[in-house]
Amino acid sequence: MTYIGRFAPSPSGPLHFGSLVAALGSYFQARSQRGKWLVRIEDLDPPREVKGAADLILRTLEAYHLDWDDDVVYQSHRHAVYQAQLDSWLSSGQAYYCRCTRKQVKAMGGFYTGNCRDKKLINDGNCAIRLLMTHPVESFDDRKHGQFSVPPELAREDFIVKRRDGLFAYNLAVVIDDIAQGVTEVVRGADLIEPTGRQISLYHILNQPLINYIHLPLALDKSGQKLSKQNHAPAIDLKQPKPTLIDAMQFLGFELNKEIKQSNVREIIDWGIANWRIEQLPDATEITPRFSNSSL
Ligand code: GLU
Repeated sequence: MTYIGRFAPSPSGPLHFGSLVAALGSYFQARSQRGKWLVRIEDLDPPREVKGAADLILRTLEAYHLDWDDDVVYQSHRHAVYQAQLDSWLSSGQAYYCRCTRKQVKAMGGFYTGNCRDKKLINDGNCAIRLLMTHPVESFDDRKHGQFSVPPELAREDFIVKRRDGLFAYNLAVVIDDIAQGVTEVVRGADLIEPTGRQISLYHILNQPLINYIHLPLALDKSGQKLSKQNHAPAIDLKQPKPTLIDAMQFLGFELNKEIKQSNVREIIDWGIANWRIEQLPDATEITPRFSNSSL
């Protein structure tokens, strides 16, 4: 079977150091297996999008010589596919409309307890869609971190697959797309380790073979917060990629000698593919990076 990996950024801002780490980790893992590496733009949430960010992300990947296979997939073009899956679940009873507010769920103890499950509500424009959780996943295997446990209340919750405001849920879109694109292994940041259980539940419900997961350490800023577009993490340098590339590779556990550091970006990437090992990844799930080469 061909290995298929992917990088799936949300265009809520330019690539920052943390997203570069996710791009590089998934790229090295795919290319070291002579696999495909796909790019999917997760533009599911228009209010959080920044105009021009999707293009900027693609130009940045090019500047770092992270060349992808096939056409870039945009989630905003796939609404009909997500909706068709929801319609099929609504008619089979695998999903149902729910009118509970966030406040009501909070009063249930923070986890939704199935209030609308048997009400057979009709959508009046004020409903979310929830998935009937018939396959809770309370633990799964991560190729880096081993067995990971999911709190049972979280695993058993009928989670939202389409929000009241009409937006499709991340977990739904990501799984439908990973299946459609034939992805065999997901390599991404450790901030997404918890939703993985729900994603595996979706594979079971969709009757699909399970895939592998590797969660990379998450880059924190100096105050211990996750580097993210929401926290205004600085954009990485597009014109001089080499110093940031070296810092990101060191973050991923590579030891680059002087000679490699003097090579060009293309050569450094090729060296990375040849020398990539999952075992070299640091054990911690969260790390504050040391920027010894770049000025981030
Ligand atoms: N779009 C998500 C993000 O940018 C990543 C999704 C994934 O890798 O599963 O955080």
